[in-house]
Amino acid sequence: MAAASVSLQKNISETSSAYLCSTCKNKNTCAEAYCKNCNSCFCGKCVKLHNQLFQDHATYGPKEKEKWPVAMATQEFLENCEVHKGKKLKLFCEDHTQLCCNTCVLLNHLYVGCSVLK
Ligand SMILES: [Zn+2]
Ligand SMILES: [Zn+2]
Ligand SMILES: [Zn+2]
Ligand SMILES: [Zn+2]
Repeated sequence: MAAASVSLQKNISETSSAYLCSTCKNKNTCAEAYCKNCNSCFCGKCVKLHNQLFQDHATYGPKEKEKWPVAMATQEFLENCEVHKGKKLKLFCEDHTQLCCNTCVLLNHLYVGCSVLK
């Protein structure tokens, strides 16, 4: 059981870090900073350049990721549900500490009154 919950934890941290650099978007570069003023995410290279150009902007690093807007996260890193092919695991059930797709939630969680996070 312990091993299973560890791998779940890992999945969650991976999905929550699905931010791509807004400047090199088509290269799928993972962002390492978010600028509040630009409302953009930047990779390590781009944030250095950005910080030189805009020294008065407030940027948040990876340690302050809770301040990054969830809307900036891409869904491309989400894993597919093993049971329901083609469905993304984008919901998280607090009661089962389990990632679920829409269908899993409907079938296994909502009716027993689980609290499901989006
Ligand atoms: Zn900026
Ligand atoms: Zn970049
Ligand atoms: Zn499912
Ligand atoms: Zn549940």
